[in-house]
Parts: sequence; structure tokens; C-alpha cells
Amino acid sequence: MDPVQEDERLSALDRYDILDTPPEEAFDRITNMTRKIFRMPMAAINFIDGHRHWLKSKQGLTIKEGKRRDAICNVAIEQDEPLVIEDTKEDARLCSNPYVLDDPHLRFYAGAPLLTRDGHKVGVLCVMDTKPHKFGPEQTAILADLAKAVMTELDLRLLASTDPLTGALSRRAFKDEAERAKLLAVRHGHALSCMIFDLDHFKDINDRYGHSVGDFVLRGAVEACRASLRKSDVLGRIGGEEFAVILPHTAAAPATRVAEKARRAIAKVSVARPEGRVKVSASFGVAELDRGAADVDELLRRADEALYAAKEAGRNQCAEWRASGATRPNVMQKVFKAGQIAFNAGNSVIDCTVRGLSDAGACLDVISSAGVPDRFKLRINSDNLSRFCSVVSKRDTRLEVAFM
Ligand code: GH3
Ligand code: MG
Ligand code: MG
Repeated sequence: MDPVQEDERLSALDRYDILDTPPEEAFDRITNMTRKIFRMPMAAINFIDGHRHWLKSKQGLTIKEGKRRDAICNVAIEQDEPLVIEDTKEDARLCSNPYVLDDPHLRFYAGAPLLTRDGHKVGVLCVMDTKPHKFGPEQTAILADLAKAVMTELDLRLLASTDPLTGALSRRAFKDEAERAKLLAVRHGHALSCMIFDLDHFKDINDRYGHSVGDFVLRGAVEACRASLRKSDVLGRIGGEEFAVILPHTAAAPATRVAEKARRAIAKVSVARPEGRVKVSASFGVAELDRGAADVDELLRRADEALYAAKEAGRNQCAEWRASGATRPNVMQKVFKAGQIAFNAGNSVIDCTVRGLSDAGACLDVISSAGVPDRFKLRINSDNLSRFCSVVSKRDTRLEVAFM
């Protein structure tokens, strides 16, 4: 895919904020229906990010994610019409595909792209079998309709004004409320601050205890935070485990005190499990509306920058945004881009998703960091970027690197 088009496709996917979220009944209902309608053993909803295909819902499959380049769905998003492969053994593109040669030994595949209103294919609804099948135009049309039902479900989530899990405002509703609060603050000349918090190492909690415990902890953390806020404060869920609060009539210093109180409250949350007590913490970034940050987006960006500093400084702490020189070259910006890790004189390439970027380094997601060497070249085709990197830290799927 053309790098610029791919960049826009990833931005479209990012808007739905669906990756790595727990299974949901609404999507499972569609995959179950798909499997039953076509009388096949396997169906899935796959989203394709920079380096992997990730399954939001699956029937008859055990995998959670896999390398993007191996996914037949990655071929399916290259075209507008559903991709139908009646017998994979007869298809030249798939003769060495691991999902054909190994588990789950696919012989039949039909996948309809998940098309956004603005024309981006963010993923695929697919139905599969270990036996070949005939699949006519009528069946293809039904599959395309089911893919539209997946998109309706995704779009409904965007429209919803509150997040059902935590009761916080959805990202969109939060932005609207924040905008209203900002206009009032400007008109009446009162202070307004914003804090953003993100749970620390939350992926580890999910991995260790499962998504339902993760959900429970998430809800507990939000409740603890809410108890530290005023009724007039606006709380929104702006990412999977990332929340923002607008504090009207509050300057940066008192806002940081509120953040500190909320941080302590979250650190006290503890969920009893047979394996022991599950504890959680969060990092906070705080910024105040001023002439330099006169709109909501800039205010959020500054709070996010401060949050990043709190994470860098060791997590479970609050940081207030401060202007630091003219350019601030080392500040990591959040991005969502496809990238490649190249080493071994360019002969070995591992796909990655770039999640953060600064002049000094980057933050990368990979399927597994195990095979990544300590030094390599990072390429981001959509930015025409190619830089030598050295690895600063490795967690199973996350790499932080410094440019050399
Ligand atoms: P960091 O301290 O750097 O923030 O580490 P982290 O592990 O929290 O960050 P990362 O962004 O790698 O992982 C966030 C995780 O949050 C990934 C995803 O599985 C989880 N998550 C997002 N939304 C939900 C949700 O609704 N429920 C549950 N249980 N987990 C969620
Ligand atoms: Mg986190
Ligand atoms: Mg996060």
C-alpha cells in the first residue's frame, strides 16, 4: 500500500481506539452469525495495524494476533471487494502462507474489508474453513453486509457519549464538553486546567489476570479518581486506559494537588484475587490554559507531554507541564505509523508500529522483541525516515530506542 495512504488508514483505525480491547458481545454476535450463515467452523474480525493483525472477535480460532505479513486479511484490505479464495492450494499468493501450511490449515477464505465512511480499510470480517468451498456472488454480498454491520457497531461506539465500562465521557463527548468549559473560562477570565492520567503497566495486569480483572481494576481506578474531583469537573476516557479531566476555575498548582490526591487514591485500589491482591498505579500530566495553549487540543497536548515526563521519571507520579526552551527536541509525540526494523545489512526486516517519536528516539510495538538486535535501522516510509537506533529498553512487545 502507498505509504501516505497507509498513514491515513492507520489514523482512521486509531480513531476507533479498538486495538487490544477485551472481547465484546456485539462483535462476537456478528462472528457467530457469520459462521452459522456460511456453515463454516471459523470466523473472525481482524484489525490490521502497522505490524500485526489483531482479532477483536473470533470463532473456532485460538490465536489473538499474528504478523501482518502472514495475514490473508492483509491481502484482503488491498481491494475494495471481498477477497474470496475457494481453495488456498490453488492460489499462488498463498502457497507458502503459514496459516495455510500450519495451524489452522486454511483451505477456504472469504474476507470482506471493514470500510470506514471516508474509505479506509481498517480491517476485515472473514470466514474460513479447512476444506475448500464454492462461494457465489450472493454469499459474497451477504458477507459484505455483515462487514457493514461491524462498521455500524464501531461507529455507534464513537457516537456514544459515555463509556459503558467506567461511566466517563467518550472521547468525542469529552472534547465537546472541554470546548464548552474553555469558552466559559475565556469569556469570564477564570483559570482552567487539564490533567491526563494513564494506568501504569496495565498491559501486564491484563496479561497476568485476564481482561475481566483488568476491567475491574480500570473501573476501580476511575472511581477512585472521581472521588477526588468536583462535580463540575469533566472526566473523559480518551484512550484504552487513558483518561482526561478538565478542571474549571483551577490553575496549574491546585490542579497538580488534585492530581496528586487522585494518584494516591488510585495507588490504594486493590482487587482481591485467588493469586493475591492486584494493585495498580497511574501517572499524571497537568497543564493550564494560557495564551500559549489557548485551545483544547494544545492544552491536551501539553498535559500529555507532562504525562510522558511522569512516565519517563518512573511512573506513579504527577508532572506539571513546563515550557523548556524553544524547541524541546526530546519530547516524544504520540504517533501511529507503520515502521520497519532492518538489520543484518538490510536482509532481515521486522515490521513494527511506531507509537511515539521525538528527535532523539522512538517507541515501537512489535509482536515480540525477542529477535530484535540491540542496534538496527528504523524506517518509516510515510515520513521518509531512516535512522540508526540503539535499544534503550525492551518489554515483551514494546521497545524504546534512541537515535544514534
Ligand atoms: P505504561 O505504563 O507505559 O502506560 O504501560 P501500559 O502497559 O499501561 O501501556 P500499553 O499502552 O502498552 O498498554 C495499555 C493496555 O491497556 C493495553 C490494553 O490491553 C489495555 N486496555 C485498553 N483498554 C482496555 C479495557 O477496556 N479493558 C482492559 N481490561 N484493558 C484495556
Ligand atoms: Mg498505560
Ligand atoms: Mg495508554
